[in-house]
Amino acid sequence: MSDAQPPQPPGARLLLGKPVAASLNAETKTRLAAFVGRHGYAPILAVVSVAATPEATRYTDTLRRGAAAVGFAFERMDLPVETDAAALAAQLRELNGSAQVAGVIVMTPLPPHIPFATVEETLDPRKDVDGVTPANAGRLALGLGGFAPGTPAGGIALLAHYDIPVAGRRAVMVGRSNVVGRPFALLLLHADATVTVAHSRTGNLAAITREADILAVAVGRPGAITPEMVRPGAVVIDFGTNYTADGLRGDVAPEVAAVAGAMAPVPGGTGPVTNAALLRNVLHAAEAAHGEQQNPL
Ligand code: NAP
Repeated sequence: MSDAQPPQPPGARLLLGKPVAASLNAETKTRLAAFVGRHGYAPILAVVSVAATPEATRYTDTLRRGAAAVGFAFERMDLPVETDAAALAAQLRELNGSAQVAGVIVMTPLPPHIPFATVEETLDPRKDVDGVTPANAGRLALGLGGFAPGTPAGGIALLAHYDIPVAGRRAVMVGRSNVVGRPFALLLLHADATVTVAHSRTGNLAAITREADILAVAVGRPGAITPEMVRPGAVVIDFGTNYTADGLRGDVAPEVAAVAGAMAPVPGGTGPVTNAALLRNVLHAAEAAHGEQQNPL
């Protein structure tokens, strides 16, 4: 018998998003086909842009392909730059009133002359599959269901897919945006993690991140999390999406993979799951509209 230490693990287990997205999409497709069989129509995902940027156009195309692949109908509304808040609100009210439209996404950023409150105040929360309305954010905060935005919902799906336990574990979320950090922290809390939320005013960030069993990061700065900030063996979820001269980079330095026990890398980790989680929301919205989904909205 040797008393030598067991060999060091070769590096973090990679939590890749593609298989998670494939599994979510397969379930959405099956349930959607049954829905179409019951109701005789394919629910519509509508995407509204005002003065669409090339990025918004590319993202809309990605959504269109994703929606079509699982069986949704798709409507794209490209409104001109002259559109004012009242005209956007009128468009949203029309979509609110359409029985076949299950979900509505409004591309951001809106032009500066249209406050985002136009969307928050007008979009029917039952069609707010991106989880941007105060009704959905409030329900998420209170643990009453509703729609969580695709990125954090996808992060939870990723943890579940790889059987990573959350209950009772110490989680640290770095970043508190309404679209990623805050909802992911709430979802972790609902999954019974003990959650700390760090942000730009947090003092001694490294001391806090080193306490994390699960470290999630949505800061928007490549390499914001370095290896010495990570507890050996921790699960690291990188939501960062930073386009640099070297290509797509996350918020977590790649060297963290040598310290972490498991890591959702960028590219390849959380990114691919976001749209699958969003499409699942559209399915839930369609089912809820027929009273078939346990949806509290
Ligand atoms: P955001 O709205 O700019 O929020 C960034 C957050 O990071 C803020 O809460 C900010 O704190 C915090 N922060 C900034 N500098 C910090 C520092 N030095 N130390 C600690 N916290 C710091 O960004 P976001 O929309 O959440 O996006 C974050 C990243 O996620 C971006 O790379 C974005 O592209 C990516 N993202 C990914 C997806 C996806 O599908 N994977 C979706 C959306 C976004 P304050 O609140 O104090 O300002």
